[in-house]
Amino acid sequence: MLDIKITRTTAPKAKPADESKLGFGKKFSDHMFLMDYDRQNGWHDPRVVPYANFTLDPACVVFHYAQEIFEGLKAYRTADNKIQLFRPECNGARMQDSCDRLCMPKIPVEDFVQACKTLVEVDKDWVPHTDGASLYLRPFIIATDVGLGVHASPTYTFCIIAAPSGAYYAEGINPVRIYVEDEYIRAAPGLTGFAKCGGNYAASIKAGEMAEELGYAQVLWLDGVERKYVEEVGSMNIFFKIDGKVYTAACVGTVLPGVTRRSCIELCKDWGYEVVEGKLAIADIMKASKEGKLEEVFGTGTAAVISPVKELKWENEVAHISDGKIGPLTQKLYDTMTGIQWGKIADTKGWIVPVCNG
Ligand SMILES: *Cc1c(COP(=O)(O)O)cnc(C)c1O
Repeated sequence: MLDIKITRTTAPKAKPADESKLGFGKKFSDHMFLMDYDRQNGWHDPRVVPYANFTLDPACVVFHYAQEIFEGLKAYRTADNKIQLFRPECNGARMQDSCDRLCMPKIPVEDFVQACKTLVEVDKDWVPHTDGASLYLRPFIIATDVGLGVHASPTYTFCIIAAPSGAYYAEGINPVRIYVEDEYIRAAPGLTGFAKCGGNYAASIKAGEMAEELGYAQVLWLDGVERKYVEEVGSMNIFFKIDGKVYTAACVGTVLPGVTRRSCIELCKDWGYEVVEGKLAIADIMKASKEGKLEEVFGTGTAAVISPVKELKWENEVAHISDGKIGPLTQKLYDTMTGIQWGKIADTKGWIVPVCNG
């Protein structure tokens, strides 16, 4: 148990008046969680303080060598005004795996969950009331040691900020067009693909921008060795329903193990689908499409929950999926996941962690 000191703001900000205009990650709540690390004291001084700027030496390791990791999860307000989290222990465990890869000191999963809950409780009035809107939590750790020699920092700051965010599909679920990237790669065996680190994103922006210029919502990354097998999409994992079976890339070091991915796999299995986690060649997906067997394609991630895909563009080939509409399995996963998260469906899986009354 952390002994978290709470200092409340004396100058609370005005809450967003129109929750339909929140967008994603643009406005932040009144407080943030902080905790520091040094070798002598370990993780220490856990506290909730008013949201404020950091003061950091320009020579901090994080600015030069990107020793940084992050997480992303949401707090939901239910219809009967309870506030809850979805599988936060999965995020805590994944953050430990990221810590390990980036040579950072781990935070116990219970402490991670307690920190999230405490910040949400202090800022509970910032959890939006609109259906589909939520309070997005962004936990992250930065290396704060001063010095330009390449080294693992001996000091760190763990911070959680909270952003009231609008319904992802404010105008209804919109299937997206995806560009299969055949030049740039996101990950390769031995690199950091499985870790949620800012550096992965820095390296991916260029391909994303090019796809956007061509009118695609995101890129689908192929494996970094042969550029043959599908891995994931932008900030989402990706699933393919082909001839009745559900396929997604295995999490073998180059794919980010999404909490939404894992939850969707469990649900699909509960519903009797065969789920194959393995290598799936883009050529075989395009072939399945030509044969009329590519039934549904969807991305999974905390922000969008489920994002249906209506088109895949790979080299000179284009696959059109589900007549541009959301497929039945995609819809059922979306309804079930959001139903559990917003408390409209009973949580028989033990995925919900209550925080407080709203
Ligand atoms: C965070 C993330 C995901 C999705 O993970 P969730 O836990 O489902 O939000 C997928 N891919 C990448 C690259 C990510 O950073």
